[in-house]
Amino acid sequence: MTKLTQELIKGLSSNGKLAKFTSVGCYTLLYTTRNGDYLCADCATESHIYDEFGGLSEDPALYVSTYDEGPVLHCENCGESIEASYGDPESDVDGLADAKAGAA
Ligand SMILES: [Zn+2]
Repeated sequence: MTKLTQELIKGLSSNGKLAKFTSVGCYTLLYTTRNGDYLCADCATESHIYDEFGGLSEDPALYVSTYDEGPVLHCENCGESIEASYGDPESDVDGLADAKAGAA
C-alpha cells in the first residue's frame, strides 16, 4: 500500500478524477481509507475534494494499491464492485485468472 500524497493524487488523476486502473498494465487500483474501508476511484476522488464542499471527508482515502487477486470487493460508500486484476484464485468460475497470471 502506498500513502496517497497530493503529488500521487495528481499523478493518478485525469479530468480531476482518480484513476480506476493503472495507466500501465491496467491493473485495478484500490483505495483504502484511514479506517481501512475500501473505496472506488470515484468515491476516493470525492473524499479528497476540499474546496467545493468546504471540508474533507471524515474518512478520506489515504492509501492506494493495486488489487491483484481476491474476491470482488465493494466500495464502502456507494457499493460499486471492485474486481481484482486477476480475479479470485479461490474461485474457479473463470479460468482467466490462471491465463492472465501466466502472462504476467
Ligand atoms: Zn464508491
